[in-house]
Amino acid sequence: MRTRLVREAIETIRRQVRDGTFSADADVAEAVRSLAEQRLAEVTSVFYRRVVNAAGIILHTGLGRAPLAGRVLAQIADQMGGYTLLQVDLDQAQRSPRDGRIEQLLILLTGAEAAAVVNNNAAATALVLNALAAGKEVIVSRGQLVEIGGAFRLPEVMAFSGAKLVEVGTTNKTHLRDYENAITENTAAILRVHPSNYKIQGFTSEVPLPELVTLAHANGLLLFDDVGAGSLIDFSRFGFDKEPTLIESVAAGADVVTASGDKLIGASQAGLILGRAALIQKIRKNQFARIVRAGKLTLAALEATLTLFLDEAAALEHVPTLRLMLRPAEQIARQAERICQTVQSACPDATITLQAGWSQIGSGSLPGQNLPTTLVAVSSPHQSAAALANRLRHCPTWVFTRIADERVLIDPRTLLDDDEVILTQALIQVLKAGVSQ
Ligand SMILES: *Cc1c(COP(=O)(O)O)cnc(C)c1O
Repeated sequence: MRTRLVREAIETIRRQVRDGTFSADADVAEAVRSLAEQRLAEVTSVFYRRVVNAAGIILHTGLGRAPLAGRVLAQIADQMGGYTLLQVDLDQAQRSPRDGRIEQLLILLTGAEAAAVVNNNAAATALVLNALAAGKEVIVSRGQLVEIGGAFRLPEVMAFSGAKLVEVGTTNKTHLRDYENAITENTAAILRVHPSNYKIQGFTSEVPLPELVTLAHANGLLLFDDVGAGSLIDFSRFGFDKEPTLIESVAAGADVVTASGDKLIGASQAGLILGRAALIQKIRKNQFARIVRAGKLTLAALEATLTLFLDEAAALEHVPTLRLMLRPAEQIARQAERICQTVQSACPDATITLQAGWSQIGSGSLPGQNLPTTLVAVSSPHQSAAALANRLRHCPTWVFTRIADERVLIDPRTLLDDDEVILTQALIQVLKAGVSQ
């Protein structure tokens, strides 16, 4: 590998000599060595590193969505260093489904008859449509034809799955009769999609899930519900707007429910599929299920996280996503105050103020629900906000912030464990670096 890096460096220097960009009095051997060393440092550094999320977006797609709970990590670390039980039936020494354990947990937690796990929710949706509706029509409201970050676009997922999309209603209003009028002998299902990352407000209406279930079943159709964020806890108890939970969707009679594992469940990236036993069996037998199956790391993280939900208090205490959502406002305000004081006393010429603001859940979960927070706004007479934010991203532990009105905004809500110390040190360092220029 080192020889290859040196050869690469020699090639680069040769090119520079040919184009005349290599300075005539520079030492060629030294230039090659320095270039090769720089590349070596790059390739040996960790890319999937720990960073500080001071942007206040809890499920930040660019920063890996849900951080895993410490307990979950401890369990996985112990398991993954050795052979692990994955696909053996202890009594018969035969293969059992690798997600059988997760299925048991999901049945307990949601009341579903059966369940399966795949790579992510996009795969879950495509798999369900292919296994249960390929070559048939599936009715979707125009208000629910969503695009979700990372290029999940419902019409395209449907086309890929082989199901035929039948759009009904309008962007803002869809009525039960719109669905009713679209049913033909070729219809297999009605699909409800939780609009996740946006909200239609004003003159709007969507048909409630129980009414869609009744209509589907009266016509011999299936009802698929893509819940998206996949909450197992009703957050309206804590003052959030009412959002569908997996439990409610199952109870309303949806035949198949799909959700992400790394949104409001706060586990690893996964697609959860809940449903009636005969349908889940059909889904498991579909070739696509093998193509998008989950790996052992994913399953181990899911098992450990879902186990926490068996005791809701434990989930609320240990699952970072939930803990950050429910952080008390006063606790965030105190932390903002501490950061402000520490940085201000080290950097007296910086302007550091506290201001009321909003955190976001992110990843299209609980759209439109902004969480009140206290922001630390930082500006420097020596450098622009963009330069400050850029320097913060290049500190030894990368720090991610927001910028508004020429100020860097720090939202303490998404700081975990030792992040506060790392953040204040990074801020002091970059503010001072600006002065010395
Ligand atoms: C997030 C989301 C998806 C995509 O889920 P991934 O796990 O990211 O593949 C699909 N549908 C809805 C409604 C979502 O919110």
